[in-house]
Order: sequence, then C-alpha cells, then structure tokens
Amino acid sequence: MMPGQIVRKTITKETHDSHPNHELELKNYRKPYRCDGCLEHGYGPRYRCDLCDFDLHEECMFTTHTTSHEFFKGSTFKFFNRPPGRCCECNRDDDKRYCDACGQAINGFVYHCEEKGWDLHPCCRHLKDKIDIDGVEFRLCNKVSQKCLWCKKRKLPNCVKGIPGWSYLAKSDNCHFHVYCVTEMVLESWKNGPKDSNCLALENLKLELPLQANLFRRRGRGSKYLRMVKFLGTILAILLGDPTITLACLFVELVSK
Ligand SMILES: [Zn+2]
Ligand SMILES: [Zn+2]
Ligand SMILES: [Zn+2]
Ligand SMILES: [Zn+2]
Ligand SMILES: [Zn+2]
Repeated sequence: MMPGQIVRKTITKETHDSHPNHELELKNYRKPYRCDGCLEHGYGPRYRCDLCDFDLHEECMFTTHTTSHEFFKGSTFKFFNRPPGRCCECNRDDDKRYCDACGQAINGFVYHCEEKGWDLHPCCRHLKDKIDIDGVEFRLCNKVSQKCLWCKKRKLPNCVKGIPGWSYLAKSDNCHFHVYCVTEMVLESWKNGPKDSNCLALENLKLELPLQANLFRRRGRGSKYLRMVKFLGTILAILLGDPTITLACLFVELVSK
C-alpha cells in the first residue's frame, strides 16, 4: 500500500485524536457540512458525532503521521491539527499558510513539509493524478502554461507568491482548469445558497455552466462540454470528500434540461 493511502469504508466507527471522547460514526447524509478537521466544506459521507455536531471528511478522519506526494519528490509531509504558522524558513510576510495544490488558505488539518514549507489540505492530498471521463484523460499537473477555461488566465487569480497551484489538463480536449477555480466554484455556490438547504446550492453554477455551454457549442463541441461538466463534478466530489459521483450526475441533469 502507498504511504498515505486511505483505507476506505472498512471502518464505520472510531474515535479521532481531535475528538477523543466520542466515537465518530460514518454517516451518509446527502447534504453539506463543514469539516471540523480541515474546516473546509464537505458533502455526502462524513464521520460524525451527533452529540457534539462534529463532522470529519473521510480524508481528515484517516490522516497519517507522515505522507509524501509525487510532485514533491524527496519531501516528507507531517500531519498537523492546525496550521503551523511561522514554523519554517520559507515563510511569507504573514503567518498564514496556503495549500500548494488549490492555492486556498489552510485553516485546520494540514500536511506540512517542515523542510521546504509545502502545505496540502488532506482532501487536496488525495486528488487523483488521472481522471478518466468518457475515455478522455484529465491529468493532474503542477506546471501548466495554458489558460484556464474558467478564469481565462494562466496564473491563479489572487495568486499567493510562490504558490503556482495545481491544474487538471486534458490534452486531447485542449482544456485546462485550475484546482483553485474549482474550489472557488464550491465556495461561491456555498455563499449564495440558502443556509438551511438540504442540498448543496448550485444555483450559481446553474447560471455559470450554461454560459460556458454556449462557449463550447459555438465551437460545435457539445460532447466536449458534457465531459467538462462531468469532470468538474468529479473534482468537486473529491474536494468535498464525496467519493461518489452524485454531484457529477447532478451537473449533467442541470445542463441537459
Ligand atoms: Zn476535512
Ligand atoms: Zn462528541
Ligand atoms: Zn487545498
Ligand atoms: Zn514549517
Ligand atoms: Zn482558473
């Protein structure tokens, strides 16, 4: 087994160091939550203590003391319950830490490399290196010189110095998305949604995606658009800790109406 690989679905009840007094139980509610580990958004399955209203992503439940990543050859990442602040040489002006994968701030659980100062959200650590959508391969890359289809820029919008962020690139579709832009979509739909809604508010995406659809249709590439939509749904699902592709299906439903 690879270091840091997650054992999925074999454990349904266990305590976690961050919540030692009660067992957390695997629940599969089809509704959004905020993970009390990494403090990021989640959707679908979570490890939960009902008494305390405490939830963890699966990725945050089964963290390992150390891990590695192929984009950081030779570096070891250590797990921290909270961002380590100014713990190493390569720090920025402020003591905030940012995820080297998605470029977003780190607020809770993190894999941190003490030697080089890299940081990864637990969910970002588990982004797949390859995603196959209808026979088209989207590859996770850390060096892309092409414009992102969402933000239309090469570099990350609001780029933090020294953090280029990761992207998914589909060579055959000539298409590239920043992981950052996908996380922004999640945050946007979250902010704009009704607070007590039982489903992830995707109203914003409902508006945005058809706009993008026109873009693709003008070029006569309908099926390519559907692949983009499925792909975005898949990434959202991973970032939200939902390994099923329910969201992807939802997207397809939205756009085929
Ligand atoms: Zn989490
Ligand atoms: Zn509890
Ligand atoms: Zn991240
Ligand atoms: Zn450090
Ligand atoms: Zn982008």
